[in-house]
Amino acid sequence: MPKCIFCLTTDKNVFNTKEHILPESLGGGDWAILPDGLYCDKCQNIFGSSIEQQALADYPFINLRTLLGIPTKKNKAPWFDYMEGRLHSAGEPGRIIYEPNEYFKKAFVEGRKTLTIIPAMTRKSNMVLRTLLKIGLETIAGDNGENKVFEERFDPARIYALTGQKKYDWPYLLIEHTDKLNLYIKGIAADEEPFFMDIYDYDKEQEYLHLRVLYLDFFVPLIENVVIDPEILIGLPRKTEIIIV
Ligand SMILES: [Zn+2]
Repeated sequence: MPKCIFCLTTDKNVFNTKEHILPESLGGGDWAILPDGLYCDKCQNIFGSSIEQQALADYPFINLRTLLGIPTKKNKAPWFDYMEGRLHSAGEPGRIIYEPNEYFKKAFVEGRKTLTIIPAMTRKSNMVLRTLLKIGLETIAGDNGENKVFEERFDPARIYALTGQKKYDWPYLLIEHTDKLNLYIKGIAADEEPFFMDIYDYDKEQEYLHLRVLYLDFFVPLIENVVIDPEILIGLPRKTEIIIV
C-alpha cells in the first residue's frame, strides 16, 4: 500500500509523481529515482514549487550549477542574481558571463570598479536544510528502508522538511573541496565517485546523511537535537562550515 514518507497519506489516488532523490539539476539521473508509492503529489507540489526551488537557487547549489554549466530542468543555462548584477553560465564548465546591473555598469565604464566578487554565502539556510533532510529521508526509503523511514525518530525531520517547524537548532556540515572544483572546471573528472547519498547509522541516536555532489560534501543529522560528533570533523579539509539553522 502506498504511503507518503512526508505527510503519511495513504490515499492511493495521489501517487502520480516520479521523484528524483537527488534533483536533476544537481546531477540526479535514473539511478536516483525513488520507488513508487512513497512520495505524494501534494508534497511534490510543496517541495517543488517553493522549498527545493529556493534551495537550488541558493549558495552553494546555484554556484555549482553556474560554474559547471549544469542546465536547469527546462534545459536552460543556469544564472543567478546578486547585488552587483547577474552571472550566467556560458554552457560549459568554468565559463561565466557577468552582466553588471545599471549601477555597477556605470562604475565599470568609469573605471571606478574593475572586479566583481561572486557571493559565497547561503541566504536561506533553512530551505537548504529542509531540502537536505528531504534527500536524507528519501535515501533511507530508497535504500530498502520503507519500514525504517516511518520510525518515530524521523518525525521531526519529516515535519521540519515539510512545514518548516522544529523545536531545536539543527546543524549541518558543508565541506567544499576547492581542489576538486578546479578539476571539474577544467573538465577533468576527479577520481572519486562524483555523486552519492549514504546513510551513516552509528547508533539509534546518530543517523546522518552523507551527500556528495561533485566538489561538495554535506553531513546532515536526520534526528533532531544532536550535536555533530567532533570525530567527523577530524581530517576534514579547511573549508568546512558548520551551519546551524
Ligand atoms: Zn505527502
